[in-house]
Amino acid sequence: MKVRGWRAVWAGATVLAVGVLPPVPAQADHLFVKEPTAVGFGGAVATVDADATRIGLEVLRRGGNAVDAAVAAAAALGVTEPFSAGIGGGGFFVFYDARRGRVSTIDGREAAPAATSVDVFVDPATGLPYAFQEARVSGLSVGVPGTLATWRAALNRWGSLSLGQALRPAAQLAETGFTVDATFQQQVADNAAAFGQFDSTSALYLPGGQPPAVGSRLRNRDLAATYRLIGRQGPEVFYRGDIASDIVETVQKPPIAANPVGTWPWPIRPGEMTRQDLARYDVRFPEPTHSRYRGLDVYGMATPSSGGQSVGEALNILERFDLSGLSRTQALHHYLEASALTFADRNRYVGDDTPRALLRELLSDGFAAQRACQINPAAALTKPVPPGVPHGSQGACPTAAAGAPSTAGQSTTNLAVADRWGNVVEYTLTIEQSGGNAMVVPGRGFLLNNELTDFSFVPTQGSAPDPNLPAPFKRPRSSIAPTVVLHDGRPFLALGTPGGSTIITTVLQMLVNRIDFGMTLPEALAAARAAQRNTPDVLAEPGFDPQRPGLEALGHEFASTPEIGAATAIEFLASGQLLAAAEPTRRGGGSAATVWPSAPPP
Ligand code: GLU
Repeated sequence: MKVRGWRAVWAGATVLAVGVLPPVPAQADHLFVKEPTAVGFGGAVATVDADATRIGLEVLRRGGNAVDAAVAAAAALGVTEPFSAGIGGGGFFVFYDARRGRVSTIDGREAAPAATSVDVFVDPATGLPYAFQEARVSGLSVGVPGTLATWRAALNRWGSLSLGQALRPAAQLAETGFTVDATFQQQVADNAAAFGQFDSTSALYLPGGQPPAVGSRLRNRDLAATYRLIGRQGPEVFYRGDIASDIVETVQKPPIAANPVGTWPWPIRPGEMTRQDLARYDVRFPEPTHSRYRGLDVYGMATPSSGGQSVGEALNILERFDLSGLSRTQALHHYLEASALTFADRNRYVGDDTPRALLRELLSDGFAAQRACQINPAAALTKPVPPGVPHGSQGACPTAAAGAPSTAGQSTTNLAVADRWGNVVEYTLTIEQSGGNAMVVPGRGFLLNNELTDFSFVPTQGSAPDPNLPAPFKRPRSSIAPTVVLHDGRPFLALGTPGGSTIITTVLQMLVNRIDFGMTLPEALAAARAAQRNTPDVLAEPGFDPQRPGLEALGHEFASTPEIGAATAIEFLASGQLLAAAEPTRRGGGSAATVWPSAPPP
């Protein structure tokens, strides 16, 4: 294949060592400019939000490392992006340790309470699964939150700040407030009926019964106090103390307003989370998934996320084709087909309990060969395609029964951080749907997640077992795919996105755009997206329209959606230079910044 820039990336590069950079003067907040792309040195931050990026950057400027900055930025996102992120939710944290040359991960996924039954989302009155919104806005959907435990674990293992120090800028931001933009207002408007059922939520986000005005200042003093309390007393207050009691109370007795704002057509059911469920929660440290793609090492998130398996398996399939040598239509055809095949396997085999050996098999080149031989360059496969058989029968193109299409929400947020020492954090955090389960814990200022709706409500795999059915303590399958790509053992790319199960296709598409199509990183993010998740229709953005006729001629069918995902990323260029990238327009555009815009003085 042609040299596309990245092969030369680390030739002669020097990672800036401790102490090489002179101190960076602090920058006044009002001088921070929101830009989707930044090139520079000494560290970089990319998030969806200017306040979060500014806070992360400030931590780096003051000598903090990538983990410190990631936690500080994530805490800020809990203030400014409360419908996607926060201590009421969970997430997956990927860390590249420059000193050890190693990628590690934290699984901070929400866990099902002990009392969870397999039919938690089946209405006992009808025997039918609940409507999604009925399940979502309830105590039933709330998983034990993992975000705070993730921050504690990341800081303890790799950070230099205490949790209290890392939370301080976000507490300040919550106290003084931030400016409401059109995206924020729209997210409230989309959730107005659900938010209006709870005084604790409408008091914060529906002032006067309406979404806050664009340009107004929104303060969250309860959240500021919560962050400060955690800073003083540690995460124990959240998992075993007063905040734990308040979470349990909210789940068991949803704080439904006496006079709701607007109407909600479903009953709001209680859940069964207890203080013991919170006390027993802990993060896990799974080995990252690993796959090789065109000479690069791709590291991702293992179960309970399907992100690493799905991105890795699809890349393994695609590596068998010279995408850069194909016409764009053929290359995209292969991308869509590889994605559909991968989703079939994900849905059949991947859940919280998937044995590591099976995960390795799904990520093997032999299995990819079996799957790749299903792709017909002349015609799209009929969707849904059946899953493969990953136990040694590679090469025979065997078949099995088809599974149901996968569903997931459209919220969540991703951030990427690099520091002057060459450490990298790729972190995706979520409360599942935009607005989570719509309940702000009274007096605490944060929304609870509805992550347990990522379980299958009923079996989806016909006569085969569904790996993602609810069970006590189990973590629902995720699609979150924070991805770190190394070249010759050194960082080349870090990237991730929200978007429910389109997370997988968006990460895959950005990698193909960058590595195979030779786009720059900002181009790879901005390019129109199309997601094939083993469903009859490919979901595509309007910008993808020019590609459609060629693909339709091969049998692909399309459904239109305004936008998919909201990615952030960093590319590691030659000589320690960093390229931080966020969305130019999706979700109102993101914010990328570097510590030094130009090379530091020698
Ligand atoms: N809950 C989803 C997952 O973990 C993410 C939700 C979203 O990005 O919208 O896969």
